[in-house]
Amino acid sequence: MIDDWGLHWFRRDLRVPGNKALKENWKQVQGRTLGIFCFDSKFLARPDFSSNRFAFFLETLKALKADLTEQGGDLLVVDCLPHEAFPKLFHYCRSKNIPLPKIVTWNRDYEPFARERDATIKKVLKDEGVNSSDFRDHLIFEPHEILKSAKQGDFYQVYSPFSRKWFDNLASSEGVKRIKDQATAKDYFAKKNRTSDLFKIKWIEIAKNRDFPFVDSLVRFSDLNSKNVTIEIPKAGFFAAYEQLLAFKKRLDAYKDKRDIPSVGGTSKLSIFLKNGSLSSAQVIDALSLDGRNWKAAGGKNQFTKEIAWREFYYSILYHKPQVEKHSFNPKFEHLKWENNKNHFERWKEGATGFPIVDAGMRQLLKTGWMHNRVRMIVASFLTKHLLIDWRWGENHFMKELLDGDLAPNNGGWQWAASTGCDPQPYFRVFNPWLQGAKFDPEGIYVKTFVSELKDAPPEVIHDADSDRSKWNYPRPIVDHSIQRDKAIRLYKS
Ligand SMILES: Cc1cc2nc3c(=O)[nH]c(=O)nc-3n(C[C@H](O)[C@H](O)[C@H](O)COP(=O)(O)OP(=O)(O)OC[C@H]3O[C@@H](n4cnc5c(N)ncnc54)[C@H](O)[C@@H]3O)c2cc1C
Repeated sequence: MIDDWGLHWFRRDLRVPGNKALKENWKQVQGRTLGIFCFDSKFLARPDFSSNRFAFFLETLKALKADLTEQGGDLLVVDCLPHEAFPKLFHYCRSKNIPLPKIVTWNRDYEPFARERDATIKKVLKDEGVNSSDFRDHLIFEPHEILKSAKQGDFYQVYSPFSRKWFDNLASSEGVKRIKDQATAKDYFAKKNRTSDLFKIKWIEIAKNRDFPFVDSLVRFSDLNSKNVTIEIPKAGFFAAYEQLLAFKKRLDAYKDKRDIPSVGGTSKLSIFLKNGSLSSAQVIDALSLDGRNWKAAGGKNQFTKEIAWREFYYSILYHKPQVEKHSFNPKFEHLKWENNKNHFERWKEGATGFPIVDAGMRQLLKTGWMHNRVRMIVASFLTKHLLIDWRWGENHFMKELLDGDLAPNNGGWQWAASTGCDPQPYFRVFNPWLQGAKFDPEGIYVKTFVSELKDAPPEVIHDADSDRSKWNYPRPIVDHSIQRDKAIRLYKS
């Protein structure tokens, strides 16, 4: 006879410590919680599907499963959409006289597709007679909590006032509590004070029954996907993420000065972990001893917290205006007459535009699955304002290649650079890639790391529009900066 048990549906919260919904589930069923992850075949067939990101995701799931298993629990990974998986599982339970779960929990996701899916699942569970509860976990403040006024949907469209409100909330007693709540991650990382005897359910035995209606898909998907992986996949999961966080803590003071220099590793590279919830942003803030109460005094250190606020700002935009997924935030720019030259697009993707800083960024992306933020801004501006290619093409390519590819910040970053979004850079301000290169990579160290043809070229040649770089077997620029800038301004004006 099995006692009450609970099911926690993992999605973008792939960690145990500080996982709000998982913790609540544990409480309600005294630890007899089973984790479930449902692969969505639609997701695997998306045009912006990325084998590299998927590989990292699978590694994250494996790390999560190992962590849960170490504590006597398990993660069931099924190849089945959730609205099919839950009824199938419950049907099986009924056929074996196993009670249905007392509770199904999950943490909220803010993407349009996910919101629709979750509403459906709530209904499916209700029809099955199973209770469900959802929780805030992925963001410190959810989109409905940072509003201009009490009027529903009155959201901020500009970052500065949004961030002021966000920081005020962070400094409030509730904000402080939300960060403190995540402090347990430290002990968990140190393998102290863990919940080792919480899992008691004999689930593994049940899942081993011959007629169990699912096969574990983790290994199968890993095998299928591995042949398409083109980069080295970083270590994944909570422990890898926390280790990286602690290493970054030592560099935090220098963050403000170094974060714009792509050659020095001044940023945290935590985005890949925040994306899938191996780490929560509240855990990051807690570990770095940053909180809303000292943000003005903390000066440089708090530049970092401002970036976390940018992330939440873009989630808020996507939540309140889901149309941005496919359309310009500013409808005025929806019908820009992009040139969309396919040859230029290919040259941009390959990193063969003849603009060294752009090519270095695009090659960093292909080689590592990540690109420095400053360079993301440069290459995105270049694609839209120099090559006059639709920002959606670039956004889609980033989604295919980035390990941290995440709809809200990716869409926000692209629309910002293309000047079609909320709080964008004004369209008449066009980044000059030559000046950007000289300013942020004066010695050409970053360029040389990824554009090996130029490894012996002097920096003044690398960043000079008029120098001939053909002797290094490096292509001539595919367009002229000044001509394209004027064209772009005319295009936007019209
Ligand atoms: C065109 C474009 C596309 C982008 N696409 C993505 C994406 O798909 N996924 C993604 O996570 N970020 C995206 N960003 C934002 C930013 O470039 C990355 O978050 C950052 O480079 C990740 O590196 P990091 O973790 O070392 O950042 P850090 O500088 O260490 O910042 C810490 C965290 O703050 C958040 N953050 C930092 N900068 C931004 C920003 N400008 N906007 C929103 N959040 C930010 C990230 O979660 C990041 O991990 C994009 C930016 C641009 C301009």
